Amino acid sequence: MSSGSAWITRSNVAVAEQPTTDDDTSATPSNANDPALAAQWARIRSRLQSEVGDVEYRSWLRQMSWAGIDGDEVTVLLPTRFLRDWVRTHYGEKITSHWQQENPVVRRVDIRVGKGRMPDEKLYGGLTESLASPPLPAPVPPHRAPSTNPPRVAEEMSAPLDPRFSFDSFVVGKPNEFAYACARRVAEHPGSKEFNPLFLYGGVGLGKTHLMHAVGLELTRRGARPATVAYMSAEKFMYRFIAAIRSQQTIEFKDHLRSVDVLMIDDLQFLIGKDNTQEEFFHTFNALVDAGKQIVVSADKSPSDLSGLEDRLRTRLGCGMVADLHATTFELRISILEAKATRAQATVPGRVLEFLAHKITTNVRELEGSLNRLIAHANLFNRPITLETAQEVLHDLLKAHDKRITIDEIQRRVAEHYNMRIGDMVSARRARAVARPRQVAMYLAKQLTSRSLPEIGKKFGNRDHTTVMHAVGRVTELMTSDSTFAEDVDLLRKMLES
Ligand code: ADP
Ligand code: MG
Repeated sequence: MSSGSAWITRSNVAVAEQPTTDDDTSATPSNANDPALAAQWARIRSRLQSEVGDVEYRSWLRQMSWAGIDGDEVTVLLPTRFLRDWVRTHYGEKITSHWQQENPVVRRVDIRVGKGRMPDEKLYGGLTESLASPPLPAPVPPHRAPSTNPPRVAEEMSAPLDPRFSFDSFVVGKPNEFAYACARRVAEHPGSKEFNPLFLYGGVGLGKTHLMHAVGLELTRRGARPATVAYMSAEKFMYRFIAAIRSQQTIEFKDHLRSVDVLMIDDLQFLIGKDNTQEEFFHTFNALVDAGKQIVVSADKSPSDLSGLEDRLRTRLGCGMVADLHATTFELRISILEAKATRAQATVPGRVLEFLAHKITTNVRELEGSLNRLIAHANLFNRPITLETAQEVLHDLLKAHDKRITIDEIQRRVAEHYNMRIGDMVSARRARAVARPRQVAMYLAKQLTSRSLPEIGKKFGNRDHTTVMHAVGRVTELMTSDSTFAEDVDLLRKMLES
């Protein structure tokens, strides 16, 4: 611990880095000594370490301690404000999700300044990092002088592959079958021209990372040496690149990257606006493709929609196979839930699966998370899973979901439904054919979002709140007098909620 802070005080950010006295821990819950909880914490640390790599772990996370669990909240402590802020922004989500997976009781993680219990090295020595080795410098601390103790970039290029993300555990349906087939093909014949690069894109939680890990796992299963398959997020690519520059190891970094047979970079959209890193990636990319090596890239948009990436890179990214992971359908969500329930050996009634598949529509991660929560709850209280318990246990999650419908989405759906131009949602046209759908959209915005009347008016071409009020009243009236119209509006509402 004392050696752990040495590099910090050596650096130019020493002032900001002095351990602060504003310890924002208050009462320390006492269960930090509970061996079961301590073991969970040790596992989480060890997972974090293998996910982020030694360099990052030692720089940012090693000094983390914890104060135990209070209710559904875990308190994680860092010795300085700077570290606390850094860990909060960069690792907060990861730490929370690891905790939630380890311990179903945990909902939140509070990251604060303070000093708590460090892991018991003797007990969990194999799981946590060795404190005997000297700390490595941070990858991107501000204003740092070149390090005398450089990270060994080349040795930790690839993030570990998660064995759970295999092709076998990936549920295939219409929305993802093409992406799945492409990924399989790449795993079987890496480097073949039509599939190089393979560019996977789609919204959050639709399985991009899962498929990339599956490619890596399958390649190694077929005998590829793990060292020749590199998977990392674009963010990590950037950190490592910067770390290499700082420690004057860029040649090693480039050599190592260029020596792999398969390079997979996840979430490429992260490189938007990071010009130097993009440039470096572009060169690596060309060198590898020219040598017949396989590249797999994922992003949240198609190459042509990734504005902000350099044109020449976008062009090259679109040259191989571009596969889209579409939003899930109800059927696919049901199949995924069934597969996960079977895997967890849990009995979940069909009605509950349907309820979840109906309510949680955008993100498979959340779908999975909610199922896990139900299963954990049922095990903990030894109660069967029913629709009622599902509604109760997932109450907050479902509420958050309902809130997430946006006015833009409502306008788009309603315009599509009535076959009108989306522009007419905000235009001044008063013809019935556009005015009525506009009123329906305003009505739905009032019903399905938490926006106020003036806010809604603003989104509809700066209309007055009284116009919105009138629209809501008119639609309500029409719904009672015209059942076809009422069915129509209900259908729209269901589509938006599903
Ligand atoms: P993305 O990278 O697109 O944001 P992930 O690959 O991280 O999404 O997927 C989020 C979670 O959902 C993971 O736990 C993943 O295993 C799961 N998941 C997504 N799609 C599927 C699928 N078709 N079958 C099984 N699990 C899936
Ligand atoms: Mg991902």
